[in-house]
Amino acid sequence: MKRVIMLLLALTVVSAVSAQEKKEYPKPEAMRPAMTEFWTPQPKVVTPGDIKTNSAPSDAIVLFDGTDLSAWRNAKGGEADWKVHNGVFTVDKSKGDILTKQNFGSFQLHIEWCVPKNITGASQSRGNSGVFLQDKYEVQILDNYNNETYANGQAGSIYKQVIPLANAMRKPGEWNVYDIIYNAPVFNDNGTYKVHPTVTVIQNGVVLINNFVIRGTTEYIGHPRVVPHGDGPIRLQMHGDPSEPISFRNIWLREL
Ligand code: MG
Repeated sequence: MKRVIMLLLALTVVSAVSAQEKKEYPKPEAMRPAMTEFWTPQPKVVTPGDIKTNSAPSDAIVLFDGTDLSAWRNAKGGEADWKVHNGVFTVDKSKGDILTKQNFGSFQLHIEWCVPKNITGASQSRGNSGVFLQDKYEVQILDNYNNETYANGQAGSIYKQVIPLANAMRKPGEWNVYDIIYNAPVFNDNGTYKVHPTVTVIQNGVVLINNFVIRGTTEYIGHPRVVPHGDGPIRLQMHGDPSEPISFRNIWLREL
């Protein structure tokens, strides 16, 4: 009798398993090309700058178009008073830094700069300036054409944080172009980075910095500091070295 019961139980289990194996579930529909093709939202139309006149894209905020420094102010207060001439402006070493009047978050920045043909000096004392992103993080500007310096302080470095992937300098007297893509940080309530700022720097079409994670402020002396901040201006540096001052032209920014 016991054997019969055991046999019946075994048969019940086997039939339950085979019933489960036979159960059929709906199968995903076969993929068709249109299933992964999204038509909205369509990217906004941006008219690129004119290749001959090197003008800004249609949605850019023009920070200098060759006429005046009305988009800028002096870091010490008042209007920006570096000298505008022949469609460019030149650092005035007696006047200090200048900053944009407007604050920005994440952006794409285009800026052109040129050291004089007759530039003198060596290492950091040769055409030194800088572009400070959100007034905190310096992308170095320096004449490194046949001019060596500490590698993490050369042109295109995030000053003292990362060595550029290349030296793409044009000769003194020729214009250099920076295209900088910057993602602003997010902070925790305790003032640390929740999301670090990141940056990509392209000089004259050559990638120098590839999506670098910025560690903090770019200090001349000491380690980077983490300083909570919101949107901020672009700062152009008046460096106190005695070499001949550098010039800028064609500056525009697209907010991202
Ligand atoms: Mg500098």
